[in-house]
Amino acid sequence: MKKTFRGGVHLYEGKQITENAAIQPLNPTGDAVYPLQQHIGRPAVPVVQKGDTVLVGQRIAEAADGLSASVSATVSGTVKAIEPRLTISGNMVMSIVIDNDEQYTPVSEIGEERDFHDLRNDEIRQIARESGVVGLGGAGFPTDTKLTPADDNKIDYIIINGAECEPYLTSDHRLMLEQTDALLGGLRILLHMFPNAEGVFAIEDNKPECIKKLTHLTETHPRVRVCPLKTKYPQGGERSLIYAVTGRRVHSRVLPFQVGCIVHNVATTIALYRAVNESTPLVRRVITLSGDAFNNPGNYEVPIGTNLQEVVDLAGGFKQPPKKLIAGGPMMGTSLFTLDVPTMKTTSALLAFTEDEVGDAKETACIRCGRCAQACPAQLVPQMMVRAVRRGDIDEFEKMYGMECVSCGSCSFICPAHIPLTQSFIYAKKEVADKRRREKEGDKK
Ligand code: SF4
Ligand code: SF4
Repeated sequence: MKKTFRGGVHLYEGKQITENAAIQPLNPTGDAVYPLQQHIGRPAVPVVQKGDTVLVGQRIAEAADGLSASVSATVSGTVKAIEPRLTISGNMVMSIVIDNDEQYTPVSEIGEERDFHDLRNDEIRQIARESGVVGLGGAGFPTDTKLTPADDNKIDYIIINGAECEPYLTSDHRLMLEQTDALLGGLRILLHMFPNAEGVFAIEDNKPECIKKLTHLTETHPRVRVCPLKTKYPQGGERSLIYAVTGRRVHSRVLPFQVGCIVHNVATTIALYRAVNESTPLVRRVITLSGDAFNNPGNYEVPIGTNLQEVVDLAGGFKQPPKKLIAGGPMMGTSLFTLDVPTMKTTSALLAFTEDEVGDAKETACIRCGRCAQACPAQLVPQMMVRAVRRGDIDEFEKMYGMECVSCGSCSFICPAHIPLTQSFIYAKKEVADKRRREKEGDKK
């Protein structure tokens, strides 16, 4: 029987549009923009000034103390400005702007081979930190922190997340097929760091050729296996994945390594390999462009920092004006009102839907059907939670374990009354987090 988790929803996948589209590199000519906050944690600190000349792979912002991530130039050129710029999140974020000289001249060390067997764990973590590697599946959690459990010997599982459960997204699918050596190399580094761990490729069963290829390449490896998963959303959510693979449960106050697990997305594992073995910091990523509005939907490898409008233009533009634009997947992505924003480390996709693909259902009253509770992977009761949020009772929301919500969107998707449940919970979780912070600050005074 295929592994899975309780709850979840079955979605239209839309992956056939791009799953056979091989990754194509794009080299833009426009300015590159690097927000200093592209990750969870503190913003990076610029180490360049206006007028400086920079090369591809040169660190232009250092990770701040604690939880943070560095930023490297992804084009060569001149620093034009350090100023607030609009980002995908809709916020203005302090950013480094580079006037692209279109030469793509790299720093001399890029590509130098290194053998991870010669490196200690702290050296590998330092390389990941200096290379700006973060979770590329969308979370943006700094990888060096994820690789720092209390005890390296107490990690039982390294789970490589190849679920890619969001509809339309196929960049990880293509990476598993096209950059398999780097992916396996990344897992070897992780197994070297955590000597008691088993490596598990966790892949939804809608990607049979990835399962077949990785099974064939790892069948004689005593510490690696492939775990096919039932195709169900949100199978790729960290908690759902850990439960499906190991039967262990994680909640909002427990980190995966506290239950002996480390989970890395496919693209992140490859980025770690490139940083450690090829001395190449995180400078490019693969983005899926999908939806009926595109002329050439596909998978494109672009320098991080590229303006999304330029990505679209280089990929062949739109065949008709999109009705809806989303950065990321349709369930957890961010709706965009402009393409004049830079590609970030966490930008896995750009979806452009036409009028036909976008519904305009109106909200009606809750009919107490209970479908939202059945779909919730966190076993919450969304119809009750939303009532508490709507009457402004944040304490009640918290008592109903609202902070365990992973914002997956399953409840909103399944709700026949079209109630924007997830949006309410995102708002309420922020309110609770603000309240907790105020209480903590009050305690300190
Ligand atoms: S799915 Fe929608 S209509 Fe059904 S109980 Fe939940 S909130 Fe109410
Ligand atoms: S309540 Fe949260 S975790 Fe549960 S289905 Fe809704 S969005 Fe997902």
